[in-house]
Amino acid sequence: MSALVQALDKLKNMGVRMTPQRHAILSYLLNTMSHPTADDIYKALSPQFPSMSVATVYNNLKVFMESGLVREMTYGDHSSRFDADLSDHYHALCEECGKLVDFAYKPLDELEQAAGEMTGFRVKSHRVEVYGTCSDCMSKTT
Ligand code: ZN
Ligand code: MN
Repeated sequence: MSALVQALDKLKNMGVRMTPQRHAILSYLLNTMSHPTADDIYKALSPQFPSMSVATVYNNLKVFMESGLVREMTYGDHSSRFDADLSDHYHALCEECGKLVDFAYKPLDELEQAAGEMTGFRVKSHRVEVYGTCSDCMSKTT
């Protein structure tokens, strides 16, 4: 079963009504590796849905987040980025162009347990990100 079919199934089971726009936003998110902002999604889909507003995109993203299909990554004053890949992975953010690249790193799997033991917390989640300059931007500046 494809990720899209699985996601549609989940929404249906949760009683979420499907609309053409909702479907398009969800499949766009599932097919991109770019971790788009709501504005990116709006720009990409507006030729297809000229009457759709950024607010519509936001409302749909909220529905997906509440359904556990999409995660939001916040960056202070900058726009949130959205990721429909819910597998355990981390992100590297390019401070020049804003590219967000996935990576996995096994030793971090033990981080929550170690943190729990050291702090006495019942650890729920963690967030790890690296910041720097991507290889594309590095080759541009040299
Ligand atoms: Zn870059
Ligand atoms: Mn990701």
